[in-house]
Amino acid sequence: MTEQSDPLLQPWTGPLGAPPFARIGDDQFLRAVTTSIAWHKAELDAICEQVAPATFENTIAALERSGEPLARVRRLFWALSSAKGTLAIREAEADISARLSAHAVAISHNDQLAARVFAVHASRHESGLTPEQVRLVEDSHASFLRGGAALTRAGKDRFAAIEARLSALAVQFGQNVLAATNAWVLDLEQNELEGLPSAICEAAAARAAAKGLQDRYHITLDRTDLEAFLTFSKRRDLREALWRAFTARCDGDQHDNWPIIAEMLALRRERAVLLGYADHAHYALADSMAHDPAAASALMRQLWAPGKRRAAQEAAELQALIDSEGGDVRLAPWDWRFYAEQVRRTRYALDTAAAAEHLRLDAVRQAAFDTAGRLYGLSFYRRADIEGYHPDVGAWEVKDSNGSTVGLLFTDYLARPEKHGGAWMGSLRVQEAMDGDVRPIVYLVANFAAAPPPDRGATRLSIDEARTLFHEFGHALHGLLSRVTYPSQSGTAVARDFVEFPSKFMENWIVSPQVLADLGMPEDLISAIREAEAYGQGFATVELIGCALVDLAIHQNPDAQIDPRAFVEAQLDALGMPRAVGLRHRFPYFTHIFDGGYSAAYYSYAWSEALDADAFEAFVATGDIFDPDLASRFREEILAAGNSRDPMASFQAFLGRAPDGTALMRARHLLDA
Ligand SMILES: [Zn+2]
Repeated sequence: MTEQSDPLLQPWTGPLGAPPFARIGDDQFLRAVTTSIAWHKAELDAICEQVAPATFENTIAALERSGEPLARVRRLFWALSSAKGTLAIREAEADISARLSAHAVAISHNDQLAARVFAVHASRHESGLTPEQVRLVEDSHASFLRGGAALTRAGKDRFAAIEARLSALAVQFGQNVLAATNAWVLDLEQNELEGLPSAICEAAAARAAAKGLQDRYHITLDRTDLEAFLTFSKRRDLREALWRAFTARCDGDQHDNWPIIAEMLALRRERAVLLGYADHAHYALADSMAHDPAAASALMRQLWAPGKRRAAQEAAELQALIDSEGGDVRLAPWDWRFYAEQVRRTRYALDTAAAAEHLRLDAVRQAAFDTAGRLYGLSFYRRADIEGYHPDVGAWEVKDSNGSTVGLLFTDYLARPEKHGGAWMGSLRVQEAMDGDVRPIVYLVANFAAAPPPDRGATRLSIDEARTLFHEFGHALHGLLSRVTYPSQSGTAVARDFVEFPSKFMENWIVSPQVLADLGMPEDLISAIREAEAYGQGFATVELIGCALVDLAIHQNPDAQIDPRAFVEAQLDALGMPRAVGLRHRFPYFTHIFDGGYSAAYYSYAWSEALDADAFEAFVATGDIFDPDLASRFREEILAAGNSRDPMASFQAFLGRAPDGTALMRARHLLDA
């Protein structure tokens, strides 16, 4: 294959700019990455070799324009490596990751290039630049500094070595989690399914059948399976077995992640100190909305004590329930969801299995589309002529109220073993308008357990899963409705602790009476769901904020070498972590912070939720959660603005004031805890 014939190196010419998935060989990525890195280097050399003094246009804008083929290959590779994960892709992952990381370091350590960026930065206020251009210059300058541009030669060498090692460790961490998750299954017979809703049994049977096993039922270590089984199974011994297998992943076994964690923490700390930061948390948060770990911790601590008090009340109630049933046991982590479900059923008359009957995947996806229609005037058209990377992937053309194309959306909602766990949104192409109008291509991935063929769209979701679908859809809208000039300011390229704001915000609609009614739910079920929303906030708050606090603490630890397992345990003791709740993510499989971008930034979920709670209260206060004025302000000031201005400025432009920190306490029903 030549460069001219390699589809990975050519611009995508499919409908709406879609990539030619069917023509892409999974074993071609390494070569395409290598070639497109070489092309990018040549572009960067041309920028450096200019005789004219550095200007915004010939340096910063030229950098924005450079590396387009590389961006295409990189975005495509990350999309596939998370959702397709063939052997060829898995084998190439570490190598590609290493090359991309080395290339990024080489750019920051290109002295000529850095000097040009620094020159534009020094005169940014006297160059007649727009505010978004000034921000772009400042972000570019900061990114060169964070990449080690100001270090001595020896410092740069050490920085490069650290980056290379961190990138390799992150890949290994993620692959360990995937391997450990797939290495275990709860293999059940029909008489062991007591309590499980039929949807879960059908999905479990389909999984066993796919392996050629009849009359067997396979529950996996995917979080969706875990949550469902712990909620419904009446078999305490099996709940315990599943919970123990889930929480033991990568903890001392053949996929042990503790040594990787220890090494990553030491390297992150060394890198931060090399760059002049106190520790990794200060380094990681320098470009966040919180700015400082102390501000992030303060918000987490505000939630922690009331969350723990509420969790203690919940635990007492659940223990009373166990006692009243004559169960001679102490409430354990594998009991919590099961008995909480009993409370929801008895106190709020909430029948979650009945709710799931109305939460069919196709219907919930359509409800999300309809919500975007009512809020922003968008409509979604199935494009059967556009192929995805798997038969489960659907392609949708998104149109604005005036009929113009907003962008292309791929949806990939069903679990497959080769997929990474969880749910996420990504971009194959970002919106920008430097040299003409470029429309975004966005994808959504989840791991909902599929109903058996042929009608996989009839897959039934829990309320939490429907919420996840709306959450990721909120990220998609952020990418789709972006309206900025420069690609690096596009859509979701905002601070970590701001990026979860549009997604958290979107979750409000799936539990709104209007959307639930549109899904065909009777009124008593809707009110049961809404009343039960207030229940369980102790558990939910503690498992989330506990992760955020330990993540912040471990990345501020001043010791060069620590035993991370002992550190985490000591932190949990000091916090008084309720052991029957436990962390939402134990550290050996905490991919957000060891194989994602959320190190020292897991607090971002709660931080963004505080913005969301405040924003949604404004909608509720109008008496119409589809209020057209507020919706159009949200679209313009939050979604369209991307990272073209400071996130606080965007929030203030939306509501005309700074965020109100107490809204989150109200949203989590913790004010009286
Ligand atoms: Zn999110």
